[in-house]
Amino acid sequence: MKGQAVGATINQVRLRIIQGDITQQDTDAIVNAANSSLMGGGGVDGVIHRAGGPAILEECKQIVARQGRLATGKAVMTSGGNLKARYVIHTVGPIWHGGSRGEEELLASAYRESLKLAAENHLGSISFPSISTGAYGYPLDKASRVAIRAVSHFLREKGTCLREVVLVLFEAHAFKAYTEALNEIIKVNNGKV
Ligand code: ADP
Repeated sequence: MKGQAVGATINQVRLRIIQGDITQQDTDAIVNAANSSLMGGGGVDGVIHRAGGPAILEECKQIVARQGRLATGKAVMTSGGNLKARYVIHTVGPIWHGGSRGEEELLASAYRESLKLAAENHLGSISFPSISTGAYGYPLDKASRVAIRAVSHFLREKGTCLREVVLVLFEAHAFKAYTEALNEIIKVNNGKV
């Protein structure tokens, strides 16, 4: 059974946590947990390319030809191809090496740079998958806190066109981890995210 959506409002922007499939989201952009080659791959990356069609990969190739591989923590944008979302923002999260190789800052950067791109392009809504918690091995309990804090920090700092940020968790245990992280952050901050 799917978990119920939970959320919070930060600086008039709605943050929602849902269980679902990122390729089905109709936000202006969806974020892809890509790798530096931008050539597609397994996990959510493969799913997004399959659902979006070859136009996305073509644009990714052009980006790499122009600027080289995408560094960890950075983000670029392509069209959404056949997806409901008009755009795909491709970002690269860090591979988990135990936490002492700057993973936290790099993961926060992947969220921040994606939000920055959305804001620069005047988008109103964006959906994220759980970056780095699949093949890249970032522990869910830690990644969920970094993700929520990074989004919250960006939204508090910047006034943007963004009205909605959705964190889309595919699996029940990931949805649970993100829900718990949000509730804990709200508790620690006396009702605020
Ligand atoms: P990474 O290499 O950054 O770890 P993965 O694609 O391996 O990326 O996994 C990232 C997360 O995306 C995982 O938690 C995985 O369960 C999730 N995921 C897989 N398919 C989907 C989907 N269709 N929608 C949303 N999330 C998904």
